[in-house]
Amino acid sequence: MYRKQLTERKELPGFVWGSDSDFELNTLWKRELSESYRSVSDFPESFIPGRKEKSYLKTPGRNFGFSVPRDYFSLAGDDENDPIRLQFMPRSDEFKIKEYETSDPLGENQYKVTERLIHRYPDRALFIASDLCAMYCRHCFRRDYLAANPSPLLESEIEAAASYLKNHTEVKELIVSGGDPLILDDRKIANLLSSFRLVRPDIVFRIATRIPVVLPSRITTSLLKILSDFKPLFVITQYNHPLELTDRSVKAVKDLVNNGIPVMNQTVLLKDVNDSEDVLADLFQKLISFSIKPYYLFQGDLAAGTSHLRVPILRGIEIMKNLRTRISGLALPVYAVDLPMGGGKVPLTESFIDRISDNEVILKDGKGKEYAYPLESYPEGQG
Ligand SMILES: *Cc1c(COP(=O)(O)O)cnc(C)c1O
Repeated sequence: MYRKQLTERKELPGFVWGSDSDFELNTLWKRELSESYRSVSDFPESFIPGRKEKSYLKTPGRNFGFSVPRDYFSLAGDDENDPIRLQFMPRSDEFKIKEYETSDPLGENQYKVTERLIHRYPDRALFIASDLCAMYCRHCFRRDYLAANPSPLLESEIEAAASYLKNHTEVKELIVSGGDPLILDDRKIANLLSSFRLVRPDIVFRIATRIPVVLPSRITTSLLKILSDFKPLFVITQYNHPLELTDRSVKAVKDLVNNGIPVMNQTVLLKDVNDSEDVLADLFQKLISFSIKPYYLFQGDLAAGTSHLRVPILRGIEIMKNLRTRISGLALPVYAVDLPMGGGKVPLTESFIDRISDNEVILKDGKGKEYAYPLESYPEGQG
């Protein structure tokens, strides 16, 4: 089967990990990217589209293309409801658009301060470094933006953002996102990070990328060197299912961590992918075992054509409540929703505060048992 072929490929010369030959490694990720499946005719014969997948492929007029690296594809099972397959295979459900779904579900347009810079919170800004991805996630909230008119990152767009950051020193952190920023080549990445660092020596970088999950060969020795040169720099990945923690992917994360780059993870809560306490507990525990800190669990955004992947918000709250008493605080991310119309991210925490009286607050533990904690007050003249 196909899974086997991949194992064989890995053993070819030039597919050796940990080699110092950047050139060889660079060739590998570019080749893997170019060999991604971009249409059903690329798939191996053993792949049989399901009913909903077939129905999508037969319908003209779809606009959000698909592309999936072979390695990630090989993780998929035979059923069209497989948790991996649901993330990369389009299906007819995408044609169903709810009246509250939009092409700009986070209301980002109103916060665009330059062509590629979104400044929504006072102390952080987000730079859209690329309009391309190694894999097009079906749940993507920027799917309409990316489909609209992908264009290469221009020098003038980097300069415009750098000039804004220079004049807005209240921005302490720059999220480099996309698309996937790590799909850019090394020179472009080094160029954009240094342009920003030059005008703002103090800025903290946060690279938001799914590449360690879907194209781990991209984490080359030369990329590690570049990223290490721009610390403080955090990498935020997106693992949505424990199956995605393959040997190659974990190796890529390990390389980041061993180079002193902290790795955090944002999971998107997805129907039939990970809307289960067992799957998420397994995922989060495995993530910390590989030194990845679960940061956010996101409620699905109201992106057009993604309702079949969304989990009812009350079910999300219930899952988190159950996880809270089951897994460690370190393994537990913050469940949050990015509010429509530009409201920003807010945590969806189940409150453990039952009521507050004159002198105490009544809290409930995970089993519903009540505990009182005194309110107290600052001593006279203080606080
Ligand atoms: C998510 C996001 C951030 C970062 O928010 P955190 O809560 O700090 O992770 C910043 N800017 C924009 C536009 C975002 O969407």
